[in-house]
Amino acid sequence: MKIAILTSGGDSAGMNAVVRSVVKAAILKNCETWIVREGYEGLVRGNTEYYEALAKGTVEDAALSPDSKDIAPAHYKVQPTDPYFLHNLRFGDGPLLKDGTGDYGFTGKRTLKGRYIVRVGWDDVRAWFAEGGTLIGTARSAAFRTREGRLKAAHNLIREGIDAIVVCGGDGSLTGADVFRAEWPGLLEELKGNGIIDEALHAKHSHLKIVGLVGSIDNDMSLTDLTIGAPTALHRICEAIDNINSTAFSHSRAFVLEVMGRHCGWLALLAGVAGGADFIFIPESPPPASDKNGGGGGGWEDGMCDAIHKHRQIGKRKTIVIVAEGAHDADLQPIRAEYVKEVLTERLGLDTRVTQLGHTQRGGRPCAFDRIMPTLQGVEAVDALLESTPDTPSYMIGIQENKITRVPLMEAVAMTKAVAEAITNRDFKKAMSLRDPEFIESLIGFYSTSELKTSVRLPHHRTMRVGIMHMGAPAGGINAATRAAVRYCLRHGHTPLGIHNGFRGLLDDNIQPLGWLEVDTWMARGGSELGTNRTLPSVDIGCVASKFQSHNLSGLLLIGGFEAFAALLELEEGRKHYPSFRIPMVHLPATISNNVPMTEYSLGSDTSLNALVDACDAIKQSASASRNRVFVVETQGGMCGYLATMGALATGACLVYTPEVGMNLDTLRRDVRFLKTRYALDVKGKSEGRLVIRSEQASSVYTTEFITKMLKEEGGALFDSRSASLGHTLQGGVPSPMDRARAVRLSLKCMSFLERHNEALFAQSQSSSHGLTDVNETLGSNYNEGVVQDGEIGYNSTRHWHAPPESAAVITIQSSSIKWVPVREMVEHADMKNRRGKKAWWIDSGVKDLVESLVGRPQLVG
Ligand code: ATP
Repeated sequence: MKIAILTSGGDSAGMNAVVRSVVKAAILKNCETWIVREGYEGLVRGNTEYYEALAKGTVEDAALSPDSKDIAPAHYKVQPTDPYFLHNLRFGDGPLLKDGTGDYGFTGKRTLKGRYIVRVGWDDVRAWFAEGGTLIGTARSAAFRTREGRLKAAHNLIREGIDAIVVCGGDGSLTGADVFRAEWPGLLEELKGNGIIDEALHAKHSHLKIVGLVGSIDNDMSLTDLTIGAPTALHRICEAIDNINSTAFSHSRAFVLEVMGRHCGWLALLAGVAGGADFIFIPESPPPASDKNGGGGGGWEDGMCDAIHKHRQIGKRKTIVIVAEGAHDADLQPIRAEYVKEVLTERLGLDTRVTQLGHTQRGGRPCAFDRIMPTLQGVEAVDALLESTPDTPSYMIGIQENKITRVPLMEAVAMTKAVAEAITNRDFKKAMSLRDPEFIESLIGFYSTSELKTSVRLPHHRTMRVGIMHMGAPAGGINAATRAAVRYCLRHGHTPLGIHNGFRGLLDDNIQPLGWLEVDTWMARGGSELGTNRTLPSVDIGCVASKFQSHNLSGLLLIGGFEAFAALLELEEGRKHYPSFRIPMVHLPATISNNVPMTEYSLGSDTSLNALVDACDAIKQSASASRNRVFVVETQGGMCGYLATMGALATGACLVYTPEVGMNLDTLRRDVRFLKTRYALDVKGKSEGRLVIRSEQASSVYTTEFITKMLKEEGGALFDSRSASLGHTLQGGVPSPMDRARAVRLSLKCMSFLERHNEALFAQSQSSSHGLTDVNETLGSNYNEGVVQDGEIGYNSTRHWHAPPESAAVITIQSSSIKWVPVREMVEHADMKNRRGKKAWWIDSGVKDLVESLVGRPQLVG
């Protein structure tokens, strides 16, 4: 199959990762790979100009290029018998223009002028994904919107023999792809009718395979949780908010930030959640009509001023309001940042400034997520093309929670259009319902954590005293999760109690109620504001139980890694003997190692991947500057190789060593041979630095030092080696926006879990006063039974009650959904000795093999 890839519409970070991944995955599947420059415009223009120049003799044939396909040296060609084959190395350079002018090719030697559809090879896309924007160019093409333009595009593709295209762009680009595929048979008929193609070509190209990848910073496509580039844009916005926060605080100012998002408020919403904003305006959930038009008050101005005034009244010194570019009120009247500023200045007397982030949001180095996801999605796109038949629909590759998905392109496009239509028709309820559940949950999360009011007045017996504790090493997002939990508690009339320094702190009665303003700045804080350590309840379980009782805890939120899981397990087991543990308890996984069983994601893992990417980009630059250096980078992660493996995927490391797979002489010998072969194939004087990532506990014998020395010795004249240990820097300083946003969402889910189980336990305690037998019949016999002494609130009132195992659970993300797993059940899936899950999705889905395939390392031992 000949596969071409193009990027279209507005550029977004991660598009280069898509191109790299599609090209490499396609080459690995023995496809020929092409890129189309300048989006659909390139497709319409094709190589016509080049062919004309060739006919006139003003240009040398591309085949004369030393790097071109036709005269590529023998070792560039596919040699399947050689385990070290690296075929199709370089094609991206164009022919020589005789007048010396031109639009230079990927390596800047030869021109690509007049050629928009260009064959590319493995090395043409090397290391592309560390760069923002799109290196193959993008455009908005008026010509492609016409049938005439699409007819030319069809001819240009057939001329190069291409029968499959990958389009990476926004909803407009994917609509264009859909139109193109629908029209394809008609276009072919016309080309045949005009005598441009013959019967044989018509038959050969009767089916055009198309797959779409959503590259858009707005995250405005339906049927996918995230679009490529949106996470990086969110990073840029949050960096700006974090920076503005300090000035706003110093001068007690208000800032109004306008962010991108014409029809979709995702960026504004998530920035609001992750940046801890006071108020947001998004198109899907508009506020009431403005006072400006109707007069007489009651408009959104009142609502906003009321919310902000409340914050100021309790002593908040700074105000952040975020306005999406396409924000409007319920009458569809646009809401502009300048007007918001006027309102804040005039009505509240706040010193207010407007900051328009503009194009700074778009570009820059992609964050880890925008390297990993596009890479995985690119591989999936190639698979979808290879499996495509005339009867299958064109797919769009998306993501749901943690799962790469394929959804019919037409359906996704139609649903996206339906959102815009619903907004135009003022059917905002429908617009919201068409957004993915994460969007809606984030909006609820924003209100729960930003509004200063008790929205739900629970009856006294339903209010809880919730202990919140951090455990294990710090991880990005634990403070954000705590902030969300505290604010949820206060909104619902519960008492949030911060337990400082883990179980040691509890034993020392280091436990205090937390206030709304006290946690305000915790969103962007790294480390652990409550203090954390690894002490388990078993240090003195009886005393821990008595502290639960003396502090009258009726719910517990544990935020941490494997220790938090182990602690919850001990508490749950302790329920047999200690009634004070028979309260709802929940563990929210937070660890950079991502080693908690059964969950594919832990808070902090995104922050640490970003820290790793930042460090590795810098290291790689240094390695490349020295031309031929291999850096052996050591990562944390204990006995879990998640960080090393995903980090390798995000940085394009060529080898990765993990504790799960281990290391031996055979693999080392193979890896040395691979590196030697690879360096020998590099263009002389243009070798690049390469990374080897080694998880700290990959082997106790083949240490980082050993590997570095071995590579230095074996590399000889070809390459040199150095090592770098990232150590605790991987805990990251400022938590990533993804970790913060997920912290809020998951933390709020944990709080409603505690409420739900508190309610159930209360109901049970009520009925138990009428007779335990009934309860056992209703709830099953698998319950702990107990009697408590007196207690003031909830069901803690001298009654029998039972704590079902599911009331002590861990919140997990499994594939595309969030699941509660009783801690007792988790044990079966835990490798307690190695402190990790027995299974890991990134091992099962072959991410390690993929990392090494994408740098061309053969999988077979040679
Ligand atoms: P962004 O989200 O950044 O705006 P986008 O892909 O939505 O990206 P558009 O300008 O809407 O950006 O579309 C990009 C290109 O896709 C257009 O310039 C046009 O060439 C093509 N395109 C869009 N809609 C159609 C259509 N209905 N038919 C044919 N081509 C289209």
